[in-house]
Amino acid sequence: MLAEGLDTLIRALAEDGFQVVGPTIDQQAIVYGEIKATSDLPRGWTDLQEAGTYRLQRREDEAYFGYVVGSHSWKKYLFPPVTLVASADLGENGWRMQTPEPDPVKYAFLGVRACELAAIRIQDQVFLGGPFVDPTYEARRSRAFIVAVNCTQAAPTCFCTSMNTGPRCDSDFDLALTETSSGFLIEIGTDAGQVIAALLPVRPANSTEIDQAEIARQRAADQITRRLDTDGLRDLLMNNLRHPHWEEIAQRCLSCTNCTMVCPTCFCSSVSEVPDLTGEHVDRERHWDSCFNLDFSNMNGSPTRNSISSRYRQWMTHKLATWHDQFGSSGCVGCGRCITWCPVGIDLTREVVALRDTTGNDLSRLSDSNAESAEANR
Ligand code: SF4
Ligand code: SF4
Repeated sequence: MLAEGLDTLIRALAEDGFQVVGPTIDQQAIVYGEIKATSDLPRGWTDLQEAGTYRLQRREDEAYFGYVVGSHSWKKYLFPPVTLVASADLGENGWRMQTPEPDPVKYAFLGVRACELAAIRIQDQVFLGGPFVDPTYEARRSRAFIVAVNCTQAAPTCFCTSMNTGPRCDSDFDLALTETSSGFLIEIGTDAGQVIAALLPVRPANSTEIDQAEIARQRAADQITRRLDTDGLRDLLMNNLRHPHWEEIAQRCLSCTNCTMVCPTCFCSSVSEVPDLTGEHVDRERHWDSCFNLDFSNMNGSPTRNSISSRYRQWMTHKLATWHDQFGSSGCVGCGRCITWCPVGIDLTREVVALRDTTGNDLSRLSDSNAESAEANR
């Protein structure tokens, strides 16, 4: 499909009742927002990322998807930052509580990367896979249409190859695009994708175009240099809960919560009751929360994790260790957002190396692991 076909795709999705959301530029960053036409996309822009650093830069070409991932992830649509879960009104017969029906919005996500498909799979497991299904997530997820885009470049912060989550989009999309200098190669993933593809100005790709797309995808894979050695990682972390390195990280960590807000798999929330000024109406709202917030572990009148070292340790051990026990996979997809958006450049891949280097993987020298595991799981 030629680049002009992208406008036809956006139009076809909108005419099918989808609200199309995708990459756009706001406040000097590529973030996800409403897309009405290709003019909303960050055409000709790329992102420069390193630990604690994010900058936009003009590209030498006019690529539409020539950037990596920004601070937003698709969780802001499937698991919104604020959700009304109930409301109550005071009437003549006392308080009456109502539970709102889930919002019937239909989203089409344009530009979902391979690591983001993996993050959505993880959140599916969290919100839909257990005995308690989240109605807001279920309603939005079941209606969503996914247009994946294969990465054709990677950032120094990416490590999806270590987590087996990218950079190639293999499954769980309706359509997948690979952008090349001559247009887009389209793969169809579902029947819904087939219906939309039939409306597009497409023709079968020739062997040159297929090779071009393969070369573009391989370029991204070749650019990934950051690694996370996951071998024995769960036990390394869980057997080192009292390692002095947690205190060393705490000297740098601001407990600002950025890493959890930008992470596409983090799912912690709190519930607040918000009265209006009349005192006769109260909204019960769920909002994103973070294990870095002191109040998040408040129990029996005081926080359980009252040091930054215990909060960072909770975050990293949950992501990389106890998530396996809870959900059967790592909680990290290797997108690198927590590295880029940490204001002091803390990098979980380097912290794992530091832990490995200072233990020499000699797990036997560590004691009391059962009691420590219980502490970390709190
Ligand atoms: S690791 Fe970085 S982003 Fe996360 S809470 Fe600490 S300072 Fe903030
Ligand atoms: S922990 Fe960091 S690298 Fe891993 S998925 Fe979350 S934001 Fe991405």
